[in-house]
Amino acid sequence: MSTTKTTVDCDILIVGAGIAGSALACALRNRGYKIIQVEMSNRPLDTARGDHLQCAVVETLDQWGALPAFWAAGAEKRHAARYVTSDGELILDIDYRKLPVPHPYYMYLHHDLLAETFLNVAAEGMTYTLFKPARARDFDVGPEGIQSLTIKLAEDTPAPAGFKSGQTVVIKPKLVVGADGRSSRVREVLDFSAEQHEYENPIVLHFAPRLSADEDPLNQVTSFFGPKGSISRIPRAFNHWKVGVTIAKSEISFWKNATATERKAAIAGYAPALGELDLSLGGFYPVKLLNTHRWVKGNTVLVGDACHAMHPARGQGMNVSIRCLSKLLPLLPDAKDLGRADLVTRQLETYEQTVKPGIDEFLAANHAVGEDRDTLDPSVAAKTVASLREIQNDPARHQDYCIAAAGYAGPLDQLRMS
Ligand SMILES: Cc1cc2nc3c(=O)[nH]c(=O)nc-3n(C[C@H](O)[C@H](O)[C@H](O)COP(=O)(O)OP(=O)(O)OC[C@H]3O[C@@H](n4cnc5c(N)ncnc54)[C@H](O)[C@@H]3O)c2cc1C
Repeated sequence: MSTTKTTVDCDILIVGAGIAGSALACALRNRGYKIIQVEMSNRPLDTARGDHLQCAVVETLDQWGALPAFWAAGAEKRHAARYVTSDGELILDIDYRKLPVPHPYYMYLHHDLLAETFLNVAAEGMTYTLFKPARARDFDVGPEGIQSLTIKLAEDTPAPAGFKSGQTVVIKPKLVVGADGRSSRVREVLDFSAEQHEYENPIVLHFAPRLSADEDPLNQVTSFFGPKGSISRIPRAFNHWKVGVTIAKSEISFWKNATATERKAAIAGYAPALGELDLSLGGFYPVKLLNTHRWVKGNTVLVGDACHAMHPARGQGMNVSIRCLSKLLPLLPDAKDLGRADLVTRQLETYEQTVKPGIDEFLAANHAVGEDRDTLDPSVAAKTVASLREIQNDPARHQDYCIAAAGYAGPLDQLRMS
């Protein structure tokens, strides 16, 4: 057992290696910073969470030089989405191929593989160290933000080059990014307050192999609306689908214990077309909104679910996080200027002031959709269908809707890099 202690300086400390933290490490890899990332879990991320990246986000990954790594990892293209009745009658369709954007498609890959790919690309950087598993808990915090983090490396896992398993490491960063998710320890030590809302009903996800008879070269997401509410069939890489539906909390035990036949029948009750799927349970997701009142303190900034977690009704949490990063990156001082604490704080505050108002607006709109989904009230779903039909029948609104779905409009439009 090692009892040694060492101190290490770095330019940027990233806490957490979910999608937000791993994407940031990837984007920063060639910018001359000495980067340390700390991730507490040694397991892959939950594969069932967000896996579809918007056209605008694909463009961002292209700008970061990261796209080839995602294709090599097995990412696929989704060209369209459609809303239909439970019997399959079209309500609204979106064809990304018609949009005048550089990447007119969504890219999808399992959640865990997205993060793994980001981290693989990040590791190409010459001055990047990942401590994993190592929990970030012991921070030295003052009005200037986080001055140091003390971690203990795992005894039973090989340590990165230059460090020893079991060693205590004191990290002294110039800038800190808290990307440690909805239960953020960084948010806690900064003492940031937040608006929070717990939705009543969870989402249940299933996986199923794609039916061999399915001919859908567009790899569409199909959302079915019927008397029981809505259910979505979402393409999943490597020839699978993911099926997501909001259920009443009281139904959790049914879905946990259902036989294959009962499961099929219950899913068919939402949409007969899904009754043939050979389903396996992916998991249950309690849903929560969280919006912190501040993002920045001194040299420290929060990103991702640590500061804005949202209902996944519109599949945006991960996309929003990456779009925010694309706005943060150009504001970060060069490595040679990171020692100027006043400059670092000023730049981070500029980021918060310019981006947060758009996020607040976006979260409010997303919350309205989340509340509708959470009611489980068929009359609310019927209203949604009526408004989607109106959009389908109005060419100008339809075009605006498609552009927004691709990530190029709405309150977040300001988040695009010029
Ligand atoms: C069912 C479901 C479906 C979704 N679908 C979509 C979708 O289709 N599209 C979309 O864009 N979004 C979707 N989302 C949302 C998306 O998954 C999240 O918004 C996004 O993954 C958040 O990433 P993050 O990196 O901010 O947080 P997290 O994924 O929570 O990552 C935080 C990381 O920090 C680590 N960590 C935490 N505390 C510490 C600590 N003290 N020390 C060190 N490490 C720490 C954790 O282990 C974790 O790896 C969905 C979410 C759910 C639940």
